[in-house]
Amino acid sequence: MSENNSFDTVRIHGGYDPEEHQYASNVPIYLSAAFSMGSAQRGRDIAEGREPGFTYSRVANPTVSILERRIAQLEGAVSAVAVASGMAAISNAVLTVAEGGGRIVAHHDIYGASLDEFISLAPKLGITFDFVEDINDPEELASAIGPDTKAVYVESITNPLTKVTDVDQVAAIAHEAGIPLIVDNTFPTPYLFRPIEHGADIVVYSSTKAINGHGNVISGLIVDAGRFDWSSERFPQFSEPEFTLYTEEVGHSRSFVEAFGNEAFHQRLRCKFLRLLGAVLGPQQAYLELLGLETISERLDKEVSSAQRIAAFLAGHDHVTKVNYSGLPGDPQAGLVERLYPKGIGSILSFEIEGSEERVNRLIDATRVFSYIPNVGDVRSLIVNPARTTHREIPFEFWERNGLNVNLIRLSIGLEDPDDLIRDLEQSFEQAYRD
Ligand SMILES: *Cc1c(COP(=O)(O)O)cnc(C)c1O
Repeated sequence: MSENNSFDTVRIHGGYDPEEHQYASNVPIYLSAAFSMGSAQRGRDIAEGREPGFTYSRVANPTVSILERRIAQLEGAVSAVAVASGMAAISNAVLTVAEGGGRIVAHHDIYGASLDEFISLAPKLGITFDFVEDINDPEELASAIGPDTKAVYVESITNPLTKVTDVDQVAAIAHEAGIPLIVDNTFPTPYLFRPIEHGADIVVYSSTKAINGHGNVISGLIVDAGRFDWSSERFPQFSEPEFTLYTEEVGHSRSFVEAFGNEAFHQRLRCKFLRLLGAVLGPQQAYLELLGLETISERLDKEVSSAQRIAAFLAGHDHVTKVNYSGLPGDPQAGLVERLYPKGIGSILSFEIEGSEERVNRLIDATRVFSYIPNVGDVRSLIVNPARTTHREIPFEFWERNGLNVNLIRLSIGLEDPDDLIRDLEQSFEQAYRD
């Protein structure tokens, strides 16, 4: 396949050469823990990186590698690393960038488990997070970055408020300070937004969500733009000698920067964190990811268009006091949405209803087409009450600032007929407010 194909072609064919796999139309599932190394010479060449090849599936697996190559092509990246969950992607990226300790600047309205990790676990590993109030305020962001800051960490679109991060501006500020930008781009997926084209250095995904799109796999991805210079003193882990990068030709243990230049990040992440902490993705999960990815554009187009209609329906409903969907016309971020998201912001929105929490519970229990499921990005439309379920990891001090309260309901719009979805919400409202 040619190198310059566009997104819709790459999502079907990228990274896969059927000639190498019995001309199979679908990517084969290599259910093998280990692979014969052929000859003693080949075994050594693979181990020392002179020849590509597979030895052991914790190090690399052919099915998983095709998924990684396809994602890297879709993102315009040098490499992608597939891992066992979105949280594994985030943890591996954070540990690699701030190895040995340091600080990371983030905003507080991020995914619950990420916030929990950053507040309660990372500090015990020597990584302290500085949270800014408004990630799009350039002065606040610049002043939060200090000499020991190792990265800026953002979500491109937040949950449940769907606030949009100005990735271009944040990347410029991070780079000015000599640090990389990490973007969790789970909500838009690479179909709606490609952070690397806007300056991001590392992109992480929960591909459990809309990349796979069918709610049948837990998985994550780390994507490396391969542009950041890791040789500065701020990141000693990339310049120290690494025993496994010894080769006879060079005669010494090379550092990751010496061996891989600007590709040091994904190489070290793979070699030290993925291999040694071990959160690898299995080949069956990689196969399901590849299958889901084949229809990403059509799924997202329909889901975005239905989400727009449903957001407009909710905005006009008597019992709705607030709708959080930055894709609505007249939203305070409409300019940013127009610049960064010409195809729409995605399939997830939230809203608040009037009255007591009892109304929320009744509305949720009355739905027939929406499923009460704590997930997003599924072909099924999902409904949740975040404060009691998905967002329980958010400490109370962040609730108001993050738009969280017991009257809030979040929807993830799937592929059902949007008229049926609106009718389902109408009858659920009727039942919730009957008396
Ligand atoms: C779901 C999610 C994660 C975590 O992913 P898992 O696959 O559940 O580990 C991280 N970030 C965002 C934005 C998510 O929606």
